[in-house]
Amino acid sequence: MKIGFDIDDTLINLREHAFHLYNKKLGKQIDIALFYQLKRVEIHELFGLDEDEGHVMWNSLMEEIYFTDCPVFEGAIDFIRKLEKEGHSIFYITSRPKTYCEKTRQWMKNRGFPVIDEHFYCGMKDHEKMEIIQKLNLDVYFDDKPAVLETLTDSNTKVYVKHQSYNGHVPFPRVYDWKNFKLE
Ligand SMILES: [Mg+2]
Repeated sequence: MKIGFDIDDTLINLREHAFHLYNKKLGKQIDIALFYQLKRVEIHELFGLDEDEGHVMWNSLMEEIYFTDCPVFEGAIDFIRKLEKEGHSIFYITSRPKTYCEKTRQWMKNRGFPVIDEHFYCGMKDHEKMEIIQKLNLDVYFDDKPAVLETLTDSNTKVYVKHQSYNGHVPFPRVYDWKNFKLE
């Protein structure tokens, strides 16, 4: 099968990593419990930042957020390696800017994810992900973001949502943790 993955907050714990960086940079000690209650993808409101300030903060820290020691969700690498061993083709589709594509691909390889260079797509806006998923004719696709998942409700692709505090309303089967997850 052809199996596709979003990266951030599907395979790696990026928002939480950014949350800790924000606390450090802003000299705050916002409780992590509040982070786990967030009902939206963006994290800036916890730090008293408005939309514009949040945007500026994220962009100014982007390289540090992306390319430091962001933890991979437990079991994610083993899960994908197993799929690859079983003969499936693995694709990655991320909204990360194209300028960071090569560096992201290398970061993923260094972490131990199996990556084929031509199967790695960057700079995908929410609706563009759906287009590439259709074009590639993926059998299965995993993502965490409601705005992406909502474009895939009529898709022929079997879609799974990686569970997060902000996507509980999305009506797809869920991955709670990669360690115990099995493809149906
Ligand atoms: Mg994501």
